[in-house]
Amino acid sequence: MILIFLGPPGSGKGTQAKRLTAEKSWPQLSTGDMLRANIAQGTELGIAAKKMMDQGNLVPDAVVVGMIRERIKNSDCLKGFILDGFPRTISQAESLDQMLSEKGLRVDRVIEFQIQDGELVGRLSGRRTCSSCATMYHVKTSPPKVDGVCDKCGNPVIQRADDNVEVIEKRLKVYHAQTSPLIQYYSQQGKLLPIDATKAMDQVYSRVVASLPKRSFFGQFLSRAFAR
Ligand code: ADP
Ligand code: ZN
Repeated sequence: MILIFLGPPGSGKGTQAKRLTAEKSWPQLSTGDMLRANIAQGTELGIAAKKMMDQGNLVPDAVVVGMIRERIKNSDCLKGFILDGFPRTISQAESLDQMLSEKGLRVDRVIEFQIQDGELVGRLSGRRTCSSCATMYHVKTSPPKVDGVCDKCGNPVIQRADDNVEVIEKRLKVYHAQTSPLIQYYSQQGKLLPIDATKAMDQVYSRVVASLPKRSFFGQFLSRAFAR
């Protein structure tokens, strides 16, 4: 099953992807997390990406496409994966279609997380993330039990450098200009399923699960092959 979670920053893609990953055997491939891992390790790629990310800009298509191309070679991706934060431009989507078709695969479903910008600023500016295990919190709606300390692993809970009001507004602008055209791109392919991302986390999750195709393209391919 190859899924894309599409939606503006703060719409809950990462939270829902983590939950679905825990339940199914499809890893969450988050280009944002991969880039932040590069920053944390001080790689050359990370140093270059940090400047763009801190300003709310996208990193170049070739960089994220290269990361995804390498990542999906890993054996944990054999049964499928959830793309979270990728693709973010039409060019990335075209590269993805191309690299999947080379493997005889294709995107099964694109879940669009629908939410107004007005709600996102509050969500993102209150967002806190564990510096170690990436568990997410919100200062108002889901704070850690002990202020600044992760419930799960005990490491410090921090605010992302790009989760301040100025950069949040820039990221939303970038989303509307560069990423939202993907809504039409995937709806033309008949793969888009919009869900209301303003609902409570559990309700959104039920909708995500309900919107999964019964069988993936790969599963259909396998069962046809065995039926012969
Ligand atoms: P959010 O969805 O909350 O903005 P992400 O962690 O997905 O957070 O992304 C953070 C930043 O990482 C983006 O603002 C962008 O600079 C960079 N980034 C992540 N994914 C991509 C991508 N597919 N293409 C270009 N830049 C990306
Ligand atoms: Zn943690």
